Amino acid sequence: MSELRELYQEVILDHNKNPRNFKKLELHSHHANGHNPLCGDKLELFLNVVDGIIKDISFVGSGCAISTSSASLMTQFLKGKSIVETEHYFKHFHDLVTGKELDEGALESLGKLGVFAGVQEFPARVKCASLSWHTLRIAITDTDDTAATE
Ligand code: ZN
Repeated sequence: MSELRELYQEVILDHNKNPRNFKKLELHSHHANGHNPLCGDKLELFLNVVDGIIKDISFVGSGCAISTSSASLMTQFLKGKSIVETEHYFKHFHDLVTGKELDEGALESLGKLGVFAGVQEFPARVKCASLSWHTLRIAITDTDDTAATE
């Protein structure tokens, strides 16, 4: 288990150091800002959705290692997926970081995002990990608003 935990930490540190899809998207259909006042995490999320599919997704911002790596892994994970699917993933991810029981299929469907399972031991970090997902939800439903985790 501790080996697994180390692996998780490695993935998180790597994505914090070299965030993927860290840029503004000139061409985007959806956009939102997210803010986690508890930790000071801020991010701006961009999506280009064509025919219900996330063709491109990116973010910029600054925050702690958990929020940055979570946004990085989320963008990597969601590229090419449909908007409709994101609701399921949002729910599974939220269950994961808040320590709810996930069935095997749900956990499997999250792939690499499973590295955030350790966050459930740090309740104060749940908002850091889920900020990008809250921002995603705002971006999809309302194009000009700020997601607040509070
Ligand atoms: Zn944070």
